[in-house]
Amino acid sequence: MRQAVILLTVTFLFAGGCGPAGPPATQSEPTKKELSVEEKTQNPLRIVFYDFDQTLSVIHIFHETRGAEDVSGENDQFFVDAFGGEERIDRLKKHFERLAQAEVKCIIVSYGYTAVIKESLTRVGLIGFFKEEAIFGRDSEALTRFKGKKHKVISEEMGSESISYEEAIFADDSKKNIDECEEDGTCRILHVHERRGLTEKDLVFIENELIMQSN
Ligand SMILES: [Mg+2]
Repeated sequence: MRQAVILLTVTFLFAGGCGPAGPPATQSEPTKKELSVEEKTQNPLRIVFYDFDQTLSVIHIFHETRGAEDVSGENDQFFVDAFGGEERIDRLKKHFERLAQAEVKCIIVSYGYTAVIKESLTRVGLIGFFKEEAIFGRDSEALTRFKGKKHKVISEEMGSESISYEEAIFADDSKKNIDECEEDGTCRILHVHERRGLTEKDLVFIENELIMQSN
């Protein structure tokens, strides 16, 4: 049917003596339709907000170090163990590489100290996946201003880049933080209910959102 319409249009244009300069309206219509179908099937994930303790790390570094503000004195093995071992660290690297490739932004919103989070990520080679301004610790201006309400920091970040509910995921082992985010309707949620860091299943859940984008 569409072919017939195009054929008729081409015949009409020939008859009318129209040059190739202005594309006929009937040709632009199917293109528009094709684009809108693409838009619907494309997954919209644009940003992921991660808690730190027991979400990226498997242990609670803040509690384990008794709330220390400087953990640079800890040995390398402490950090390897904190992230669940070499194999899990490699898996996390692969995860963040996949997100970076799909141009999905990664943000950390945590009750740990910003410097402790940065030191921990540096020691296991993950710091490169986070921009300087992408780590909000307990001492950050935003988390202080919102009195520790993570979903409000998330909401503000999303608002600054016009990111919608569907385009963002928040992952945290704290049920309270997850529930608050859900009640507020801020963004999609992923509860790390084992409280031993993001599992393979959790990582795959996030990465599955990227499949459509890489096609
Ligand atoms: Mg946590």
